Amino acid sequence: MGNEINCVLCSAALTSFKYRPMPQWNISGLLCGQCYDKRLLEHYIQPERRAITKK
Ligand SMILES: [Zn+2]
Repeated sequence: MGNEINCVLCSAALTSFKYRPMPQWNISGLLCGQCYDKRLLEHYIQPERRAITKK
């Protein structure tokens, strides 16, 4: 019971692959590969946003 984990962004069931979001994404929970990739891409595509990141 309570073993099922879902991606916090798209709610896909996470089975063998789950990814921990980076702390600066402010996401609590786990991500599927797709959402993780997407976030990672966004993170690197918008370097200016990194400077704005609050502590
Ligand atoms: Zn997802």
